[in-house]
Amino acid sequence: MTSNQHTHKDNHEHDQKDNHSGDGGGHANHEEIFRRKFWISTLLSIPVLVFSETVQGWLGYSIPEFPFSNWITPVFSIIVFIVGGLPFFSMAKGELKDKQPGMMTLISMALAVAFAYSLASTLFNLESSFYWELVTLIDIMLLGHWIEIRSVRQASGALQELSKLMPDEANLVTEDDEVRTVRVSSLEKGDVVLIRPGESTPADGEIIKGESSMDESMITGESKPISKKMGDKVVSGTINGDGSLRVKITATGDETTLAGIMRLVEEAQQSKSKTQILADKAAGWLFYIALGVAVITAVAWLIAIGWDVNVLNRVTAVLVTACPHALGLAIPLVVAISTSIGASKGILVRDRIALESTRNLDVFVFDKTGTLTKGEFGLRDMISSDDVDDDRTLAIAAALEGDSEHPIAKAIRQAADKKGLENPEVSNFKAIKGKGVKGKIEGEDFHVGGPNLLKDFDIDLKGDVQDFYQTASKKGQTIVFLITADEIMGAFALADQVREESKETVKKLHAAGYEVAMLTGDDEAVAKSVADELGIDTYFAEVLPENKDEKIQSLQDEGNKVAMVGDGVNDAPALTRADVGIAIGSGTDVAIESAGIILVDNDPRDILRIIKLSKATYKKMVQNLVWATGYNVIALPLAAGVLAPFGILLPPAVGALIMSLSTVIVAVNAQLLRRVRNEI
Ligand code: ADP
Ligand code: MG
Repeated sequence: MTSNQHTHKDNHEHDQKDNHSGDGGGHANHEEIFRRKFWISTLLSIPVLVFSETVQGWLGYSIPEFPFSNWITPVFSIIVFIVGGLPFFSMAKGELKDKQPGMMTLISMALAVAFAYSLASTLFNLESSFYWELVTLIDIMLLGHWIEIRSVRQASGALQELSKLMPDEANLVTEDDEVRTVRVSSLEKGDVVLIRPGESTPADGEIIKGESSMDESMITGESKPISKKMGDKVVSGTINGDGSLRVKITATGDETTLAGIMRLVEEAQQSKSKTQILADKAAGWLFYIALGVAVITAVAWLIAIGWDVNVLNRVTAVLVTACPHALGLAIPLVVAISTSIGASKGILVRDRIALESTRNLDVFVFDKTGTLTKGEFGLRDMISSDDVDDDRTLAIAAALEGDSEHPIAKAIRQAADKKGLENPEVSNFKAIKGKGVKGKIEGEDFHVGGPNLLKDFDIDLKGDVQDFYQTASKKGQTIVFLITADEIMGAFALADQVREESKETVKKLHAAGYEVAMLTGDDEAVAKSVADELGIDTYFAEVLPENKDEKIQSLQDEGNKVAMVGDGVNDAPALTRADVGIAIGSGTDVAIESAGIILVDNDPRDILRIIKLSKATYKKMVQNLVWATGYNVIALPLAAGVLAPFGILLPPAVGALIMSLSTVIVAVNAQLLRRVRNEI
């Protein structure tokens, strides 16, 4: 526990230092304000308690009267009310403005009743007052609120951890090759920076000189350093190894990968889950229930004992006890903790509902290229029609693929580069999703693409090309064709590799009772060989992007809850359609934007982690909800005084204590979710 406290303290100091750069500064301030208010109010409450006649009676002492001694209790109480009580009223105003009366409104009503009555008793000399109850109530409320803000801040540490990765300063290399230290915020695209060994990368960029290994674990979760050389990309926030690098900046500030990840985490923490919506509703109901119980209590006591200060005591106790403090905390804390556990394991949850739905899925549908396979193709073989040579065919294909993001395109470009080919100029480039690409070269129309493109052209394979196709597809290689004037001008056989982790994932999903299917726009033969290798029983080949979406829909129509895992532009509609869309982190931006969960490490095995995290998170949410609403079943009647015949009455401050205690229990229970980190 001691070491824990130590870390908290450290974090806290860090926060204050980092306020200018990080997010969450507002939270820390808020926390500080309530901490201070709590201590001031508590100190000022001491004289109120010491001079209170009730407390004197309990402890059996009495303070002799002296001039104005009667004023000590009311004056200090009023100060406590102004310092510690009024903030709750302004928060209640916010709730009422949003037409969502809740916790703050209840607290304010309780404080208002207690304060107004006490003031009246002083002014009109009534026989009893309410001051000590009022001040202890305020103190306990302030304490509860302070602890609440603190635990939310600690739980949402993920975002702050990320913002700490960014250095404040960078080494700018000027045009005359001098190195100057500048603030990171002043860097611009195109600037060259020097990254010395051990320094962290100030912006996204491309290495123009030097080589080194980079620790990218904070971004990808991959713990092994990645070696980088000239031409490779580096990502802001990652840490340089032993080499020194000169990097030309390609993205700064909000455009960097790190900023993107931070945005996603923030989005996730703000996106409302179904349970959160339920909790908000419950808090709303609780307000009216509390109000109802308070009125009934007042009426019942008035009938039973007539007008008495005890009636107010009961009403205040009811209002205070019913404060849905715990309910307000029940879900957000769990959300914050599960998001940060996920982030630490390379799982970015963008959409809370996606994580929540993961626990009751039936079918996992995987895209093939780039998801189950690495999506890193190599050109293995090619063939050209009789009247052209291979170099020309390859150069044309590479030129057409120039602007495509597809892994096949990259492989063809690389092959042409390696041969040092001069690619011709292309105009009218267009990607045909799930089929290939097209463009114009020297006035002629060309297409490059796979089986779906052949279907469009109604071309049947024959002769050499057919032999080529059969040999390559037996090896499970992907084949694409260069087509012009309705004829095949050449064909390319490309090999991809199945991710090792895919096999394990499929096996474990099967073992856990899930159905697994594969969707691909690639050729039937390739699809079969990959499916066989991975032990996937259902696969659909030569599927167009819009049909991927339909396939998901039809699985859903059969009553299944479906997850789609994909990486490509062509997977985006299916990712959106699925109950849970999971994108591979190295995939295209569209896929990532369409998915609810992102696998930063590109490791399909993380899907098994998501399932466990989802189940554990949901369990915690339910436990917290049940506790946060359930304690009222006992506490409210107690506060209303149903046990009065047995001499058991709940003073408002004890009500506040019970209420705060339930908040603490909910907070502690949420923290227990952290244990899942070691289990997933
Ligand atoms: P998957 O569904 O397996 O991820 P895609 O839908 O991205 O694959 O692609 C399906 C098929 O479309 C590929 O196997 C290939 O035949 C063809 N294709 C798509 N884009 C290109 C491209 N840029 N160049 C050549 N062929 C392409
Ligand atoms: Mg793909």
